[in-house]
Amino acid sequence: MQIAVIGSNMVDLITYTNSLPKAGETLEAPDFAIGCGGKGANQAVAAAKLGGNVMMISKVGDDLFAPNTVANLQQQGVDTRYVTTAPGTSSGVAPIFVDDQSQNRILIIKGANQQLKPADIDDAAEALTSCKLMILQLEIPLETVYYAIDFARQHNIKVILNPAPAVADLDIQYACKCDFFMPNETELEILTGMPVSTDEEVQLAGQSLLKRGLKNLIITLGSRGSLWMTGDDLHHVAPTPVKAVDTSGAGDAFIGCFAYVLVKTGDIAEAMSQASAYAACSVTGRGTQRSYPDADSFQRFLN
Ligand code: ATP
Repeated sequence: MQIAVIGSNMVDLITYTNSLPKAGETLEAPDFAIGCGGKGANQAVAAAKLGGNVMMISKVGDDLFAPNTVANLQQQGVDTRYVTTAPGTSSGVAPIFVDDQSQNRILIIKGANQQLKPADIDDAAEALTSCKLMILQLEIPLETVYYAIDFARQHNIKVILNPAPAVADLDIQYACKCDFFMPNETELEILTGMPVSTDEEVQLAGQSLLKRGLKNLIITLGSRGSLWMTGDDLHHVAPTPVKAVDTSGAGDAFIGCFAYVLVKTGDIAEAMSQASAYAACSVTGRGTQRSYPDADSFQRFLN
């Protein structure tokens, strides 16, 4: 195994409706869909679709969503040996309401994701030690994230920490133990308390984190591209020009592809450039995981 994603899975419950019910009211909505999501699962699926050798450590609930989540990961080529059930708990779900202007209103119920504990890392220790790269996000308990980072350090496994969703009390000392810290601009703003409206402000906020000891800071900037900063260098990757249809999950596509290329080539600039193109390709289709191209489709997009 080469890449281990330790993180969340969620079931997106998407209702398409022009109006939301008031208290006590019942309304009929025209359409509904179920999708597989969660930042951890999205990133694992992106890397696996490209051909990566990916395992996931994750918790599903004790409910009817769980088999579907596991089957979806397996269909996309993710090793699910360490996707286990949290007894008596619901799966992570995200009821999403989309109106006729394509505006989203999203609720997140973390459910089983909150039951992913340090003991689950220990249970997967043997498989984990053969991995080159670990990817973490913050939809699981922080104590598990910190434990995984220490485990990776002890076993010489590189770590990507995607601090999403942003938590203001993230211990930056742990971020400094990671090889790559990858926020989007909103997360950067929350973590630093600094404005990020212009490129200059983003760089200042980034520098304030680097001064605290981060190694590689990679900031995704939506349609403005991405930025790789180290203590003494700065590298901007321009966005790949596309007609965006749906940008949800673009950040996860970026990280999954970055991880895949990094493990394959060891070249950070190359991983940035391919991740940027992969994420751009993903925004040309609807949905999250559904919009992630496999290796062949990505190659066609590049040509
Ligand atoms: P999400 O939370 O929906 O997963 P995010 O906010 O974490 O997304 P973004 O910074 O919006 O992630 O996007 C990630 C990357 O995707 C960007 O750095 C860029 O490379 C690419 N990207 C996003 N939107 C566009 C766009 N409209 N055109 C081209 N590339 C885009």
